[in-house]
Amino acid sequence: MEVESKQFSNQEITVTYDPCICKLSGKCARELSDVFSNNVIPWINLDGTKSDKIINQIKKCPSGALKFYKNEHRAVG
Ligand code: SF4
Repeated sequence: MEVESKQFSNQEITVTYDPCICKLSGKCARELSDVFSNNVIPWINLDGTKSDKIINQIKKCPSGALKFYKNEHRAVG
């Protein structure tokens, strides 16, 4: 079975999670449990805290399974 990477967005950022390269260390869930969870799927709740805090935690992911980018705000019309 192929496991696809998952993508989550709030107003400001989009976070991607690739289960194939996650080391399952639980670091993200341990250090920022308002957002990341090992027990709930989908397990990234971007409404759990501010985007800055989420970005800081993503940068600490040892495997690079978590990535983020800032959403582009395109003018409509
Ligand atoms: S910190 Fe990164 S490697 Fe560790 S469980 Fe979270 S996503 Fe996986």
